[in-house]
Amino acid sequence: MDIFNKCMSWDEIKKLRANDTYPYFMPIQEKRGPEVIVQNQNMIMLGANDYLGLSGDARLTQGAVEAMQRYGTSTCGSRFLSGTLPLHLELETQLAEFLNRESAIVFSTGYQMNLGVISAILGRNDVAIVDRQVHASIVDGVQLASCKLLRFRHNDMNDLEAKLNAAPKGAGKLIIVDGVFSMEGDIADLKAIAALKQQYNARLLVDDAHGIGVLGPNGRGTGEHLGVESEIDLITGTFSKSFGSLGGFVAGDTDIIDYIQHWGRSMIFSTSMTPASAAASLKALEIIRLEPELRSTLKEHTQNMLTGLQKLGFDTGHSETPIIPIHVRGELKTFLFWNKLMKAGIYTNPVISPAVQEGCEIIRTSLMATHTPEQLDLTLHIFEQIGRELELIGG
Ligand code: PMP
Repeated sequence: MDIFNKCMSWDEIKKLRANDTYPYFMPIQEKRGPEVIVQNQNMIMLGANDYLGLSGDARLTQGAVEAMQRYGTSTCGSRFLSGTLPLHLELETQLAEFLNRESAIVFSTGYQMNLGVISAILGRNDVAIVDRQVHASIVDGVQLASCKLLRFRHNDMNDLEAKLNAAPKGAGKLIIVDGVFSMEGDIADLKAIAALKQQYNARLLVDDAHGIGVLGPNGRGTGEHLGVESEIDLITGTFSKSFGSLGGFVAGDTDIIDYIQHWGRSMIFSTSMTPASAAASLKALEIIRLEPELRSTLKEHTQNMLTGLQKLGFDTGHSETPIIPIHVRGELKTFLFWNKLMKAGIYTNPVISPAVQEGCEIIRTSLMATHTPEQLDLTLHIFEQIGRELELIGG
């Protein structure tokens, strides 16, 4: 049996390409804030995780350029050996201070962070108790850890409790959730999770990739937003969203961070964050701390879009964040909707199974503080037209 047979007979993607509805790996030819050029067409970007619009901020670019001039384009080494720069250490100190934690460490990406943190902390006899809709990197981290995996129904506290009860007696238990769920923008019920964590003597890891910089009066994320920061044992995130850069991080008590730093294989066996990414992340952190108005603008945009879409009759699920899903339900219709939006100059992401459950297909939109009210009004207008055409909304 040739292991390549499956590749040659796999035709799903070929069919999408033939219908001109293939939505992936499309190059962004130019980027000017929330406006991009794709397929030679001007578009409003509603598909990036650049919530504060910092990836286009001149101060980040300046920081990155200065770091490259001083340290070059790559460290060409792992953090463990020759790849640690003062920039990494400064970023870790600043991040720990910002998040009110004893220590923090940074990884080259958020994906690697989840692999490293989870596989360092959990062993063969431990149990990971994980929300069904967490990011794929968490599931991959659990697989690497070779521990037992118990998945509970999304944000369902009864099922979480059932899984806590189902864990073998005496096993170490780590509850893992996203703070803000990446596809549908809803928020984990951290208050109830914290209570169960106490009751069942478990630990709690919150991946707040989409919450930090966005939620909470100071931008410290979902824990701050819900007033439960002290119940979170490990808070993790990424620099590739509200920070407009690249890299992952974890923050917590020094002993735990020190352990992860020496047992997290994705840190030890991989080259460290580039000088440019580390410097851009540091600059972004400074802006996140000093410019809360970015967060307030984003919050206003979120409120306006949620209200606007709901008034038109779209189903936006339980989103309370700049990630706003439009429930389409049906793969074909989702691709059709996405395609019509593209042609009308609105860049969104079609999300199908396995990223969401089959039958729960969505158009995922995400807002940026740098969108203008005019861009968002135009977006609503186009959504209305296409929504009616496809009979997703009435009239
Ligand atoms: N965690 C969550 C919740 C995410 O949404 C993502 C990326 N979408 C990651 C981790 C991975 O982060 P990165 O893109 O920096 O690898």
